Amino acid sequence: MSKALVCPCEDVTASEVEHAISKGYRDVESVKRYTGFGTGMCQGKECLTAVARLLEAKCQPTPRADQLLPFTPRPPLFPTELSHWASLGFDAQHAPAGGVPTALGITTPALRPEAPVPSRAKVVIIGGGIMGLALAYNLADRGETDVVVLDKGYLCAGASGRNGGGIRAQWGTPTLITLARRSIELMKRFARDMGINVWFRQGGYLFLAKSDAVVARIERSAKLHNEHGVPTEILTPSAAREVVPQLTLAGVKAAAWNPKDAVIFPWPFVWGYAAQAQKHGVKVETFTRVQGFELSAGKIVKVVTDRGDIACERVVLAAGAWSPEVAKLAGVHLPNEPHRHEICSTEPLKPFLGPLVSVLDSGLYFSQSMRGELVGGMGDPREPAGMNLGSTSRFLARYAAALTEQLPQAGRVKVLRQWSGPYDVTPDNSPILGPTPGLNNLLQLSGFVGHGFMMAPAVAERMAAWMMTGESDELFERFTLSRFAEGRMEREDMIIG
Ligand SMILES: Cc1cc2nc3c(=O)[nH]c(=O)nc-3n(C[C@H](O)[C@H](O)[C@H](O)COP(=O)(O)OP(=O)(O)OC[C@H]3O[C@@H](n4cnc5c(N)ncnc54)[C@H](O)[C@@H]3O)c2cc1C
Repeated sequence: MSKALVCPCEDVTASEVEHAISKGYRDVESVKRYTGFGTGMCQGKECLTAVARLLEAKCQPTPRADQLLPFTPRPPLFPTELSHWASLGFDAQHAPAGGVPTALGITTPALRPEAPVPSRAKVVIIGGGIMGLALAYNLADRGETDVVVLDKGYLCAGASGRNGGGIRAQWGTPTLITLARRSIELMKRFARDMGINVWFRQGGYLFLAKSDAVVARIERSAKLHNEHGVPTEILTPSAAREVVPQLTLAGVKAAAWNPKDAVIFPWPFVWGYAAQAQKHGVKVETFTRVQGFELSAGKIVKVVTDRGDIACERVVLAAGAWSPEVAKLAGVHLPNEPHRHEICSTEPLKPFLGPLVSVLDSGLYFSQSMRGELVGGMGDPREPAGMNLGSTSRFLARYAAALTEQLPQAGRVKVLRQWSGPYDVTPDNSPILGPTPGLNNLLQLSGFVGHGFMMAPAVAERMAAWMMTGESDELFERFTLSRFAEGRMEREDMIIG
């Protein structure tokens, strides 16, 4: 066991890197996520080379130089105080720029395994994000282990590795409230059940409302929450200050408070589902891109990948915001649109912030991670639809201004890194689930906008039961793709950003 430090900022030792390698993480991005190296103050400037050397020395077969790409650099270049960003200003009328590209090593062909994919499987799941992996685990747990999960990148490359980790039961429709409550139950015991620490922290969610319309929205949904066993209370601004004394509550008219909501660290959920699914015999094939389908008699008979074809009985499309482009390969139109959402993380602070706080009017949200960082983001109404994983200084300027209005002390805190991820937005903010008209063995599992992480444990549990038993379940009747052609919307309005 080598106690030699490779990452002095985050105390990551050589033996921890070797442990990650032994678990199968053999690319720099994955080892970074698994060990935390390169996520501290120096952002990898001191440790990247040492980790690359260890990968070269310990991986079998020895990686080529083009397989040891540096991880994606994260702006800002230097840790910079939020007050600096807040003073920058931004043009509210103009759309944001593309930003610094932040997706360098995600799908590099150099990392594609040489061996072909299995030639057949009962179920092929496209997308190794939280949805695809949670479904694979639940299928396997119920006895269906002839499952292959395909992802074009490393685990956590998609939205599941880029989100804010917020989980809440404060929703605007009974179905989402029920799903979220079940997910929170499952997430609470995930560490025990799946053997991985997920940093679950039940500090509550505090929604702040500035306009009369948003006050009416939180009042309406709080009533619904109480009818469904969620103890949401509507608070006056002074009562909200008792929950988070540091808040100014500038312009705030009322707040919705549920102490049972929580935050988690997303990555271990993805790894936990993947590891347990693999233990049951599921194959998880990373760096493997779906390129097409072979169709016959109204069914998908083969999934075509850049590592060979897989003959199959059923295909589940769980490619998040990429689902429309994959569906198109089978001639299916999905109405989802990807929308970039930017997010950032600061240097760590002593614990001071219990809940995740969100100003519903602007889409600002922030919470404190178990590592002490302030993690938060804010949607941009000017963001055009499209797959864009860039990072902008405009985001930091908008976010910092909104954050320091509510939490002035945060002005002295330095932003360490920013990134972005795709929201998978549907016309009614509700998911697309179940059968595909005209291609009945293609099942949809996408369209979770900005809340799929917290829905995944419950939705995957229900989908596995529905697929295995054939018993009807309202989820796969109400949220079908066909609802759009039928003009039947399932609108959800408790969306942040
Ligand atoms: C900034 C941000 C903050 C968020 N905050 C929260 C939050 O606080 N709480 C919450 O619950 N949710 C949050 N979300 C939403 C949440 O992250 C997503 O809803 C969820 O992760 C979606 O999971 P998924 O598995 O459907 O998609 P993804 O995680 O995106 O996975 C899809 C996978 O499909 C793969 N793929 C794509 N095309 C192909 C192909 N051709 N072949 C093979 N594989 C392919 C991709 O590589 C990707 O890994 C947030 C999202 C963002 C972007």
